[in-house]
Amino acid sequence: MKLGIFNDNRIGLIVADQTLDITALVADLPGDTGRGCLQGVIAAGDLSSILSAERLATAPRAQGDIQWKTPILYPSKIIGAPANYRNHVEEMGNPTTIEQWGLFLKATSSIIGPDETIHLPYSDVRTDQEGELAVIIGTKAKNVRPENALDYVFGYSCILDITTRSTEDRSMRKSYDTFTPLGPYIVTADEIADPDNLQLRCWVNDTLRQDANTSAMIFGVRDLIAYASSVMTLHPGDVVATGTPEGVGGLIDGDTVVVEIENVGTLSVAVSAEHAVPYASRPRAGSRRETSLQSQAVSA
Ligand code: MN
Repeated sequence: MKLGIFNDNRIGLIVADQTLDITALVADLPGDTGRGCLQGVIAAGDLSSILSAERLATAPRAQGDIQWKTPILYPSKIIGAPANYRNHVEEMGNPTTIEQWGLFLKATSSIIGPDETIHLPYSDVRTDQEGELAVIIGTKAKNVRPENALDYVFGYSCILDITTRSTEDRSMRKSYDTFTPLGPYIVTADEIADPDNLQLRCWVNDTLRQDANTSAMIFGVRDLIAYASSVMTLHPGDVVATGTPEGVGGLIDGDTVVVEIENVGTLSVAVSAEHAVPYASRPRAGSRRETSLQSQAVSA
C-alpha cells in the first residue's frame, strides 16, 4: 500500500494508480487520525480489516488535484545516521563513521512535506542536501534484534536531511525549520522486499548529485533499528533517516531538490534564501569575543 495525507488533511490510499480517500474508513481509529498525519493509522496495527476490499469499495476517489503533504507530523523523534556511507565519509574528509559517531536526533518541528520550501538560514554558510531513505516505525520497539528488526517497520519514504556546514552540534545544524522534507507518502513494508537494496538518486535542478544503492550503507536498516532501539524506545510513526551517500552539496535560492528512491517514490522541494541572514547576526554571535575584550579592559 501507499498511504499518505493530501490536500485538506485527507488520508489517501493509492490503489492501482488511483487515490482513494479513506479518511472516513479510519475515522473511528483511536489516536491522532484527525490532525493531518498518519501516526494514528500506524498505531492501529493490522489494517487488513479496516482496509478490506469490501470497505475500500465504499471509499470515494480523491477529487481534483492531489497535493501530498508530509505523511508524518511531529513524530516522537527523528533519528539520523551520520556518516553511514563509506563514499560520503571520504568526501567529508573525516574518517569517523557511524560506528564511532552513533546516532543523532533532529527536531521534529523541522519536517515539511512535498513541494514545500526549504528556507536557508544563513546567507554566508553552506547548507547541503542529503537525500536519504526514511524508515517509518510501525510498532513500539525496544532492544530489537537485527534479525527481527524489519517486523517493527511500517513502511518507507523519501527524506532530505538538510544540514548547515558550520561548527555546531549536528542536532542543531540539522534542526532548522524546514530542514526535514518527508514524503510524498509511505510505502508499506510488504512492498519493499529488501530496504538494503534500493537505488537512491538526488537531483538539484538538472544535476544528478547522488546516485547510490542502500546496499552501500555501513549500518543497514536492520542494524539501525537494533542500534536505535538499544538506546531509546521507538514508537509508531518514529522516523529513521538512514544516512546519505556521496554527492552532498550546497543549495542556493531558487534550487529544486528531488529525491527518488526505487519503489518508494519521488520527493521534490524548493529552496529559498528569502529569510537568510548573515551568520554573524545569529543571537550572541559575538559574545565570546566581547566577553574577552571586557575582561581585558577590567584587567588593564
Ligand atoms: Mn544525513
